[in-house]
Amino acid sequence: MIETSNSDNIEESEVHEECGVFGAYDFDGNDVATTIYYGLFALQHRGQESCGIAVSDTEGPKGIVNSRKDMGLASEVFDAESLEKLKGNIGVGHVRYSTAGSSCRENAQPLVLNYVKGTLALAHNGNLINAPELRDELSYTGAIFQTTIDSEVIAYYIARERLKTSSVEAAVANAMKKIKGAYSLVVMSPRKLIAARDVFGFKPLSIGKRDNAYFVSSETCAFSAIGAEFVRDVLPGEIVTITPDGISSDTSGCINKCARCIFEYIYFARPDSYIDGVGVYSSRIMAGRILAKTHPVEADIVVGVPESGNVAALGYSMESGIPYGIAFMKNSYVGRTFIKPKQSQRETSVKIKLNVLKDAVNGKRVIMIDDSIVRGTTSARIVKMLKDAGATEVHVRISSPPFLHPCYFGTDIPSDDQLIAHDHTVDQICKYIGADSLGYLDVTRLSELIDGKTDYCDACFTGNYPIEPPTEDIRGEYEK
Ligand code: SF4
Repeated sequence: MIETSNSDNIEESEVHEECGVFGAYDFDGNDVATTIYYGLFALQHRGQESCGIAVSDTEGPKGIVNSRKDMGLASEVFDAESLEKLKGNIGVGHVRYSTAGSSCRENAQPLVLNYVKGTLALAHNGNLINAPELRDELSYTGAIFQTTIDSEVIAYYIARERLKTSSVEAAVANAMKKIKGAYSLVVMSPRKLIAARDVFGFKPLSIGKRDNAYFVSSETCAFSAIGAEFVRDVLPGEIVTITPDGISSDTSGCINKCARCIFEYIYFARPDSYIDGVGVYSSRIMAGRILAKTHPVEADIVVGVPESGNVAALGYSMESGIPYGIAFMKNSYVGRTFIKPKQSQRETSVKIKLNVLKDAVNGKRVIMIDDSIVRGTTSARIVKMLKDAGATEVHVRISSPPFLHPCYFGTDIPSDDQLIAHDHTVDQICKYIGADSLGYLDVTRLSELIDGKTDYCDACFTGNYPIEPPTEDIRGEYEK
């Protein structure tokens, strides 16, 4: 018997990316805050709880950082007036969804640190697996933490190492020897912008250029938004330092192994982004094509659950010849002030966010493509919505393998006991969500999504963690 969730909260049934980072350095001295804002706006899908921007003037007095951060979307936290006040030609920005550390203003980023060598502003995407030990080590030597996020541990280590090294990039390199796990970092020192990626390259990070300015972003879609050209990806383990003299690179920490997150391609990233040379759109088309070959079924229409199911549905349609259609209207305007329905109310978050186009599905056999099933409650509601709208059959196809294990690297894929596939068969899940058939992407086909490259992380599907995972779930450890 499968347990049903009592919650009507769609947030509990979806997987979230933790963060997006963005950095800018304009060598002509132009203010960068507005450009960073547009960059964050393009990265908003990676985190909607809080955001922030910190800027500095490289020609001004060292140590002056202007920053603003708060709970909410970029469009809620910033307006023209607040951006105007953020004067400076170098800066970093961040959008956040909390997976480690609670959702509060103190935990918003960028973090700005004042220390004897000046100031440091840092934005981080990912989770460290050894943050609790490092935090204890720092606490016992006098560190006082103002947040409960592991990004502060990284900032402390960089600041501490800076006292022993000749440059901030050398301090970042030393800190990277201590920290373990997933991190894509953008660090601003008074005169330098530094981008660094963990040795496994779990999280994406790339470099862009526009006129006489360089940018660093979690995803390339932000470069398109600001009219910048993609230059290249930051390599796993690489530290890139941007100064008016140009870009320098330290690859001494790189290893010949990488473990980029395969779920970025399936779900997290925007389809117009490219990660490590592979287009997210093409990955999703391929996922849909594979599903059509491995789980064919007779039907009248193929539809995707927005947003990430749409492209995979198109791929399924291309391969099977079954017409592609749009069955859902999504209301994306769910900002910070959105009042979530209580359990007693008849409205559900799923219905408020998603509505079925009755004319598209009434009387039809529907193939519905979604990116994943976590607990199964959201899928069950969506299948019911299609059937209530008159679909005669609903065949669910999932563009990822079943989730069987948690993620410790910066996403909120929960513990085993909350994953429906962990202790239920595909047939049981199919029955629970009320579908007429259910098919997942075969785990052995994942490499086809990224052009046959084999160096990726698929631990949430296989349990093969690229780094030894913590023995217990450390996410949210500091609040205990
Ligand atoms: S465990 Fe899954 S979600 Fe986490 S990094 Fe690996 S592939 Fe991505």
